[in-house]
Amino acid sequence: MTIASASAPDLPAADAATGHRLRVVLVGTQHPGNIGSAARALKTMGLARLVLVAPEKAPNAESSALAAGADDVLQAAEVHATLADAVADCRLVLGCTARSRRVSLEELSPRAAAPRAVAAAAAGGEVALVFGRERTGLDNDELQLCHAAIHIPANPDYSSLNLAAAVQVVAYEVRLALMGDAAPPAGSSDRGHATVSADTADPRDEPATHAHLEGLFAQLADTLDEIDFHKGRAPESAMRKLRRVFLRADLDVREVRLLRGVLADAQRMARMAGHDGA
Ligand code: SAH
Repeated sequence: MTIASASAPDLPAADAATGHRLRVVLVGTQHPGNIGSAARALKTMGLARLVLVAPEKAPNAESSALAAGADDVLQAAEVHATLADAVADCRLVLGCTARSRRVSLEELSPRAAAPRAVAAAAAGGEVALVFGRERTGLDNDELQLCHAAIHIPANPDYSSLNLAAAVQVVAYEVRLALMGDAAPPAGSSDRGHATVSADTADPRDEPATHAHLEGLFAQLADTLDEIDFHKGRAPESAMRKLRRVFLRADLDVREVRLLRGVLADAQRMARMAGHDGA
């Protein structure tokens, strides 16, 4: 589907182009009204790219009513079957979670996350801000696809915002960052890894997309099995940690190719050793 042209008409052209590289992804939304409210939340903040992953019900009249004039954003929403499909071309994927510290992902406030997202988009990368289901949020496999988590530091005893309200808070911080208004997050652990490394001496290849990294992770998982790395332990924990390492590394496509070459050789050696031992 086409992308709505409603993005940030009041922002300078460069910021509007950056805004177009930022998409908000709603996963498995249960209430069509929330999809409309999210469209409205985006449009009020000058954003326009809404992506739906397997919504329980397609947008309907209730969605349009709650979109309240943001129908263009709603109409232009892309629909995908899985989160992996929806973010395959992304350089940075941030997953919003109501439950703090539930995942072994770096956790950012919206204020720390927004400048990171905007920097990655300004550097030419596609960026996704992902929101979960009203009842159950994002599942662990979906969070695994994210580079970091965003948690709105709400009342710890009542921390779950309405889906569209959470979209509004995050979209507002993105707007501030797009307007260049966001101060660098004081004391944050932001290492700026989402920005293209203009400060490194080596010229960089194209940044790896999410799909490149998922290919690397699939091959890494196979290799670990083939070299019997886990020795009977469940593979999930090691894979989770290894994913974090590689997601943090801000790899480019050439580096992914190099790593996959190393893995291919390890797989070849393991097969040879297997034959010898047989
Ligand atoms: N009961 C669910 C809450 C889902 S709220 C759970 O415990 O996960 C629907 C979505 O809104 C969440 O998946 C998340 O993406 C977003 N959201 C709600 N509150 C949030 C918060 N405090 N910080 C970040 N995202 C939040």
